[in-house]
Amino acid sequence: MPAPHSHAAADFARGAAFVRDAYLPIDQASIPLTDWGFLRSDAAYDVVTVWDGAFFRLDDHLQRFRASCAHFRLRLDRPDAAVAQVLEHCVRLSGLRRAYVEMIVTRGQPPWGSRDPRQAVNQFYAFAVPYVWIADEEQRTRGLHLQISGVTRIPSSSVDARAKNYHWHDLTSGLLGALDVGADTVVLGDGAGNVVEGPGFNVFAVGADGTIVTPAQGVLEGITRRTVIEIAQTLGLPLQQRALSAAALRSAREAFISSSAGGILPVTRVDGQPLGDGQPGPVTRRVLQAYWDWHADPRWCRRVDYTPSA
Ligand code: PLP
Repeated sequence: MPAPHSHAAADFARGAAFVRDAYLPIDQASIPLTDWGFLRSDAAYDVVTVWDGAFFRLDDHLQRFRASCAHFRLRLDRPDAAVAQVLEHCVRLSGLRRAYVEMIVTRGQPPWGSRDPRQAVNQFYAFAVPYVWIADEEQRTRGLHLQISGVTRIPSSSVDARAKNYHWHDLTSGLLGALDVGADTVVLGDGAGNVVEGPGFNVFAVGADGTIVTPAQGVLEGITRRTVIEIAQTLGLPLQQRALSAAALRSAREAFISSSAGGILPVTRVDGQPLGDGQPGPVTRRVLQAYWDWHADPRWCRRVDYTPSA
């Protein structure tokens, strides 16, 4: 699909978007003010990355995206192959070799006067921008300082965390509180003494016996989380998906978080106290290394065709 003639290739260098059947430079992309995606956070989305010119686990992201849309009764009006084509074209237009690629379905807007969501025409959007890191290089090297928030994550009985959504007030409130006390980021609890997840990531703790534990309930089943589980299986590292108490996280030997926005990120302080010797731990480093090694594995990668006429 060729680039629209009205935009020069350079206009797309900061990113490219697909908005209502047109490709636009990211700076020019917008949605109507009255779209319930904006007015009500009424949307489902997913984020896949491109690393060194290849999508990582694209099929898994497409599958989760479709499931999130179905959960919120949002209509994804095209098959996975067509979604993939749009995503790839956004990346191609941008020319980015390392990109953060988002796909969204919003409720759109019902006819004027109606407040019936079933009457809305759902809208598909997508964009590709430069790769996003949850933490900067210094934080990634020294390990993140994590705060356990007093804010409870929205319970999954209200908004199912497994369906990827923009209900982020709890995550953002928690993050602001953590930044206020000098932490780098935050993990929210379930209101019953366990931690669940943070703004854009899952959490893992390595206990005294070397077992990696990650919360099983009340979390988005991150694709990076899944990759960690598979890496642990491959490396023979014990891993359990079960409740992780705040106390267990505070007393963990090591900890890390996982996200498409940065992969595996070591945690070296929780609530101001160092974990272990205060350095990124050996289990974390092994998982982190494997995560990036897997980016060269054809099982998980799909190369982007950057040919302009593709
Ligand atoms: N949890 C939440 C709330 C998220 O928003 C995200 C990603 O944005 C994750 C976990 C991590 O998911 P993934 O590894 O698929 O990026």
